[in-house]
Amino acid sequence: MSEFDLIAKINAQTAALTLARADVVLGIGDDCALLAPPAGMHLALSTDTLVSGVHFFPDANPIDLGHKALAVNLSDLAAMGAKPLWASLNLTLPQADPEFVEQFISGFSALAHQHGIALIGGDTTRGPLNIAVTVIGSVAPGTALRRDGARVGELIFVSGALGGAACAVQRRLAGMPEIAAISARLDRPQPRTALGLALVGKSRCAIDISDGLLAELGHICRASHVGVRIDSTQIPIHRALEGLPEALSLALSGGDDYELCFTAPAQQQAEILALSASLGVDLRVIGEVITGSEVQLLGRSGEQLRVSQTGYQHFADERKT
Ligand code: ADP
Ligand code: MG
Repeated sequence: MSEFDLIAKINAQTAALTLARADVVLGIGDDCALLAPPAGMHLALSTDTLVSGVHFFPDANPIDLGHKALAVNLSDLAAMGAKPLWASLNLTLPQADPEFVEQFISGFSALAHQHGIALIGGDTTRGPLNIAVTVIGSVAPGTALRRDGARVGELIFVSGALGGAACAVQRRLAGMPEIAAISARLDRPQPRTALGLALVGKSRCAIDISDGLLAELGHICRASHVGVRIDSTQIPIHRALEGLPEALSLALSGGDDYELCFTAPAQQQAEILALSASLGVDLRVIGEVITGSEVQLLGRSGEQLRVSQTGYQHFADERKT
């Protein structure tokens, strides 16, 4: 099958998504796509690449891969409070494998359909398996949820339950049996699009925590010139990790959880927590924004735990050594 046949197949499989959007003047098939941006809005653009053996297991199911390639990008739009509009897809494949592409696109388009995003173009080349997706969304000027938007005194919230995806990676690497609930967290993450959109006007600062909660909080601290104080007893740990000695560490520092961490003034707390029921997503207050420049983590009796990019440990333990 030629490159052109593959592109024709991708086009046929995703045409319904494009037809559903009047703002796609011209989709797949010409030298460029032509798009009609929503009047008066800012465009939010983000791209993420998945490399075989680095970001996914080489034997990953192509339907899951198609889902995840789009999901990780939609998560970035959600973390900005942007509404998904259009996506492009750069596929580098070892060989023109129509079955792989068909399954990949079915995973991709099912999620695209749920979030109303159209596939408007891309590129198809031969080489080691590599998938790069670019997404474009819209956000009203001045309302985006930015990393530099946190203010001292605000509360810090996190969505969902953490640590599941990192635990699933550990188990898979160790050849342990899969636990469906956490394998799904890793293979089919659900981007928090609706939450991101609902937070516009309530929050000014959000980040998706794909690289681990503590590391992402560090990004907020640096960008906003603030510190954060996190209560480790309030971290929502995925239920499947109950009883695991490393559960808290996985929840704080494990990656691949496509949840949102965001800040908001305390007077928004009730309204924000009410989103939990209306959107069907758990929301938890885990700490507050303070003056300073670093991530502070408090233990069970209010003692300060030592924080590093890779984990945490008690000060007490450190003094013993
Ligand atoms: P060009 O030679 O002008 O770069 P291509 O043959 O690469 O054109 O692409 C032809 C059309 O198919 C373009 O509209 C391009 O955006 C689209 N396209 C190519 N690869 C993909 C893909 N993997 N997914 C979606 N659209 C694609
Ligand atoms: Mg091309």
